[in-house]
Amino acid sequence: MYDYVIIGAGTAGCVLANRLSADPRASVLLLEAGGPDDRRDIRVPLAFSKLFRGPFDWNEHTEPQKHLANRRLYWPRGKGLGGSSTINAMIYIRGHAHDYDHWAALGNAGWGYEDVLDYFKKSEDQERGACPYHGVGGPLHVCDARSPHVLSRAFLSATRELGWVPNSDFNGRSQEGAGFYQLTQHRGKRHSVADAYLKPVRARANLTVGTDAQVIRIVCDGGRATGVEFVEKGARRRVGADREILLCAGAVRSPHLLLLSGIGARSQLQGYDIPVVLDLPGVGENLQDHLALPIAYACTQPITLACAGSLWHLLSFLLLGRGPLTSNVAEAGAFVKSSPGLDAPDLQFLFGPVFFLDHGRVQPKDHGFTLGPTLLRPQSKGRITLRSNDPFAAPAIEPDYLSAEHDLHLLVEGTRLARQLAAARAFDAFRGPEVLPGPAIKSEQEIAGYVRQHAETLYHPVGTCKMGTDASAVVDGELRVRGIRGLRVVDASIMPTIPGGNTNAPVLMIAEKAADFIVKETAR
Ligand SMILES: Cc1cc2nc3c(=O)[nH]c(=O)nc-3n(C[C@H](O)[C@H](O)[C@H](O)COP(=O)(O)OP(=O)(O)OC[C@H]3O[C@@H](n4cnc5c(N)ncnc54)[C@H](O)[C@@H]3O)c2cc1C
Repeated sequence: MYDYVIIGAGTAGCVLANRLSADPRASVLLLEAGGPDDRRDIRVPLAFSKLFRGPFDWNEHTEPQKHLANRRLYWPRGKGLGGSSTINAMIYIRGHAHDYDHWAALGNAGWGYEDVLDYFKKSEDQERGACPYHGVGGPLHVCDARSPHVLSRAFLSATRELGWVPNSDFNGRSQEGAGFYQLTQHRGKRHSVADAYLKPVRARANLTVGTDAQVIRIVCDGGRATGVEFVEKGARRRVGADREILLCAGAVRSPHLLLLSGIGARSQLQGYDIPVVLDLPGVGENLQDHLALPIAYACTQPITLACAGSLWHLLSFLLLGRGPLTSNVAEAGAFVKSSPGLDAPDLQFLFGPVFFLDHGRVQPKDHGFTLGPTLLRPQSKGRITLRSNDPFAAPAIEPDYLSAEHDLHLLVEGTRLARQLAAARAFDAFRGPEVLPGPAIKSEQEIAGYVRQHAETLYHPVGTCKMGTDASAVVDGELRVRGIRGLRVVDASIMPTIPGGNTNAPVLMIAEKAADFIVKETAR
C-alpha cells in the first residue's frame, strides 16, 4: 500500500513524483509502462526522430482520416521514463496568455494567465536569468540554442522582409513575431522532464519507480479509487493507494485507461462488456491537435543539417556540447495572426535547416530546408474510443482533422505565407527549386489537395479528459475525476482547449499546479 500511486512517468508523472515525494512521510509509487531512458541517442537533440517507432514510442496510428485523403496518420507518443519529453523536439513554448484566460472564462477559476504564470516560473531554470516572466532555480533548464544554423538566421531575415516583428522571447510580454525558439536542453543535450525532476530524487527512500509496468485497470470501490492492477515484466499485480491515484498516462492513454476501468460513456462500456463504474460521457471526447504542413526547398549550398553526422561534428558535440548535433531541427519560428483583428496568433511557423519529411524518418542525402506552417487554434475536434476490452490493444484515435472547413483554409493561407518567406531576398543565396508542394501546385484548390495529402501531426494531442463544469467535463478545477473520490487526471488530457503553442511547458505547469492542490488537500 502506498499513499500515492502515479500512473505514467511522462512529463506530468515525473513532476508529481518529485513534488509529492518531497514530504518524507508520504510514500509514492510511480508506474511506467516503458523502460528506463538509458539510450545515448536520447541525449542527442538532432537524433530525436531516430527514436520514433522504437522502444521509446507507443507508435500510435489514427483511424483513416476522411478529410486527409483517408490516410492513417502516425502518432509518435513517448514510452519510458520522461514519456514524450524523452522523444520530443525540445521547443519551450507556453502558449498565449489569452489561452489561459479563456480556460478561466470557461468556468475554470484559478487557471487564468496571472494564476498560472508562477507555476511556469516555478518549473524553470532560465539561462537568461529571472524576470517578471521567467524563473531561475527550478528543475528544468531552458536555454537558447548553442549553435543556430545560418539558414535559420536567413529565415528570420526573411520574416523581417515580410514586416513580421522580431521577438526574442515568445514566452515574455508578447508571443507574436519571429525569433529563435528556446529549448529544454542542458549544455547542448536534451534535458527531459525525467532528467529535470526524476533523476535528482530517485534515491529518496519514499519513492519507488516501477518500469515495464503497464497499468491495466484502476480499481474502484464504493465510489472511491482504491488501487491499480498492472502487469510488470509479464506478471500481473495489484497495489493499493491510501490517499490518491494520479493518472498521468497522456492524452491518448489516460482516457483509454479510464474506459478500461469502467469510467466513461455507459453505451460504449456496455458495447465492450466492461462493468460500468461511472457513466461519464466526456471521457475520450474533445480531442484536439496541431496539424502542420511541410513546405520544402532544395538548398544550393551543401551546408544543411544533412551533413551533421561528420566525425568533426560528433567530436564537437561530445567534447563541447556544440555544433549541428545540438540542433532540435525546428530552430526558429514565428507566431502570426492570419487576420489583424484576432486576439492571438492562429498560425505558428517552424523552420528547419534540412529536409524534414515523413517525421524525419527519410534520411536526406540532398540539401534542403523546410518551413512548417501549423494550425494553432484548430476548430476540428475528435475522440479516443475503445477498440477492444483488451488493455494491451491500442485505442481508436479519431482526431477528425479538417472536419472544420476553417482549418483547411488556414493551412492554405499558411502555405501562401511560407512561399512568400521562401521567396524573400534573404534566401537568394540558398534557395533551390521548391520540392514540396512543387511549382505545379498553384491554385487554392490544388493547395488544398496538397494539404489533404501531406498534413501531419505536430505531436500535441490534448483535451480528452477535459477540465470544466459542463456535462462533458471529466475533471473539476482541481483535476479530480467528477464522481470518483481519490482519483485525479494530471496531464495534457485535462486541457479544455488546445493552447496556441507547443504543449510540454503547459503540461509542466498543470502538474506543478496539481501538486499544490494535492499537498494542500493532504494538509487539510
Ligand atoms: C515527437 C514529439 C515531439 C514533440 N515536440 C515538442 C516540443 O518540441 N515542444 C513541446 O512543448 N512539446 C512537444 N511535444 C509534446 C509534449 O512532449 C507533450 O505534450 C508532453 O510531453 C505530454 O505530457 P504528458 O504528461 O501529458 O504525457 P507523456 O509525456 O506522453 O507521458 C505519458 C506517460 O504515461 C505512460 N503510460 C501510458 N499508459 C500507461 C499505462 N497504462 N501504465 C503505465 N504507464 C503508462 C507513457 O509510457 C508515458 O511515459 C512533442 C511530442 C512528441 C511525441
